[in-house]
Amino acid sequence: MFVRIPYRLHIYDLLKTIGIVTLIVYLALPFRFASHYDYIDGAHIEGALLPQVTLNVSLQQTFECSYTDIIANNRFVYSSAYYHETVHHAEEIWPGGEFRPEQCQARYSTAIIVPYRQREEQLRAFLTYMHNYLRQQLIHYRIFLVEQYDQKPFNRAMLLNIGAKVAAEYGFPCLILHDVDLMPLNSGQMYACVETPRHMCPALDHWRFHLPYQGLFGGVVAITTLQFKQINGMSNVYHGWGGEDDDLYVRIMDEGIGICRFAPEYSEYTMLKHKPENPNEHRRALLQAAKLRRFMDGLSSLVYKEVERRMHSLFTHILVET
Ligand code: UDP
Ligand code: MN
Repeated sequence: MFVRIPYRLHIYDLLKTIGIVTLIVYLALPFRFASHYDYIDGAHIEGALLPQVTLNVSLQQTFECSYTDIIANNRFVYSSAYYHETVHHAEEIWPGGEFRPEQCQARYSTAIIVPYRQREEQLRAFLTYMHNYLRQQLIHYRIFLVEQYDQKPFNRAMLLNIGAKVAAEYGFPCLILHDVDLMPLNSGQMYACVETPRHMCPALDHWRFHLPYQGLFGGVVAITTLQFKQINGMSNVYHGWGGEDDDLYVRIMDEGIGICRFAPEYSEYTMLKHKPENPNEHRRALLQAAKLRRFMDGLSSLVYKEVERRMHSLFTHILVET
């Protein structure tokens, strides 16, 4: 007894010191503990992108745009007031929020699909920034805003299914499923698809710029229209916050497709501040049965009512009842 007490104190002090030092290092150097992920580095991005455009772009009579410098330069543009203040040269954007460069033929056509309800301030900031940001990439794109009109719990995945269906009708070969509160910081984060579905925001400021878990597949993801159909889209049964993005990941992996990401210096995003939404209590149970459900729950079972479709100057507005 007499001998043991000081020994125990020793161990206790040691553990306490290690704990405090770890905490200080963690707070001072968050990157030290970042989980790493496999990625496509800057030199291989252009080769990885899938050249695919809509019919009207393919018929454009001019030489192809060059993307090499856009990717190589990869500037940190989020800090520039120019990108945030107003939509510059708004006359370049067609009604419905569509743009294609005229001086050259775009190599990529992308539908940006945004699930939405009651986030007006975020939407305004998003549209201004994104139209300035996306045009410097010389791609052809169109922003589809899918708004949930009813007051039922928010169904993000169903809205994305609806957006994907509409974008496919317009002939878009590549879909980017995009939260309204996320914005890319680096100019070379190309808004185009690659061979496997791509998680675009692994370096999010909200997560201290590191990926919390390898299977995170939410926020901003790029997937070809064909792949989205192949996995039967997303699940329609997640009402309220959470789980639907993990369900999408299960679908992609179960289909044997796999995912990819770009290097962290291309994948930085910021999330606008907001209160957390009400979590869906059933999300874990739903996720457990994701594999069993995926063939009958998705694009194949999508039922909704389109209340209105309107061409705004900066986006195509699809108002739906879920
Ligand atoms: N969203 C919305 N209105 C809502 C809830 C969600 O527009 O009431 C959309 C919006 O695009 C948002 C996305 O769904 O960015 C994801 O929701 P949230 O940002 O709450 O989730 P987080 O990723 O921050 O956990
Ligand atoms: Mn958010």
